Amino acid sequence: MHIRKSLIKLIGLFLSKERRDYNKRCEKSEDWINRQKIKPYWWEKGRPGKYRYFMPYIQFRSWLTRKPWIVSIDWALTTYCTLACRDCSHFMTEFTKETHLPPISFEQYKRQLDMLLKHVDGIYNLQIVGGETLMVKDLPQIVDYTAKTGKVKHIIVITNGTMIPKPKLLEVMAKHKGIAEILISDYSSNKDLLPRLKYDELKKTLDDADVSYVEVFDKEWVGVPKYTPDFDRERARRYYSYETRECLFHQTLHLIDGMLAVCPFHGWGLKHGILNHIEPKEYIPLEELTTKKLYKWLAKPYYDLCGYCIVDCVPRPNAIQKEGMTCSH
Ligand code: SF4
Repeated sequence: MHIRKSLIKLIGLFLSKERRDYNKRCEKSEDWINRQKIKPYWWEKGRPGKYRYFMPYIQFRSWLTRKPWIVSIDWALTTYCTLACRDCSHFMTEFTKETHLPPISFEQYKRQLDMLLKHVDGIYNLQIVGGETLMVKDLPQIVDYTAKTGKVKHIIVITNGTMIPKPKLLEVMAKHKGIAEILISDYSSNKDLLPRLKYDELKKTLDDADVSYVEVFDKEWVGVPKYTPDFDRERARRYYSYETRECLFHQTLHLIDGMLAVCPFHGWGLKHGILNHIEPKEYIPLEELTTKKLYKWLAKPYYDLCGYCIVDCVPRPNAIQKEGMTCSH
């Protein structure tokens, strides 16, 4: 243990302040390790608080390649969804006809992933989110290409269980079983939704196709964050702090429509022109991404953006549908 700490310190001497701050952020991200059932890599073995090799591995690699790791990122492939949840943490029901993002095509996705991967040594968890991800026609090609890059260690495709994956997707998911898995958000505690949820059929289909999956039982949700025009630095610090973890998104980045954003609130606000005044810009269009910019961005202890946000932690029943809507597009 002592040798490991000394080694990390020594390596740290060669790193810039940004890189040291960035390392600090990664160290706090151990929550993400082994969340999924798939076989761990040797460097992610261990148990909470005792992951001996995770940080040395990614720090050492990052030092060698001079490129950072992204520990966790949500990539919204579409804002279309089969449901219309009033408290959707990804704001899907707030998108309008003009701002909705139809499902991304493989060509668009590949272009954006290549731009991102050029500046990172690795991505630990890439969570493919929507909207409803199974509405994305090119999802099989997207998963296949991502897995083949070798830089993305886990691909988690999140679904709300209202659709059954097509055979092509099942085939690709089974082929990349050690890397890719499906996460089923289980909303079955909301009895009104039961006629629309196909969990049993979905699980049987995944089992038959030898696809790895996990179920996350979402009994309670919190409210959607709200924008306030009054800036409060203290609130920004508190929300994003690793210690208080007051915000649900305190460690996961968000990628939407070619923009790296802090969280879904940020992505939605940018798409609707609500957060454009925040300076310095706290989002990065992928076209403008450089390794240096990314380090700097990842090293931030908090974002000013959070000082304009009011999170609502009051629990409420999950997946309540917005009145008058059956799906969010
Ligand atoms: S702006 Fe900050 S506090 Fe608000 S949802 Fe995003 S990360 Fe959380």
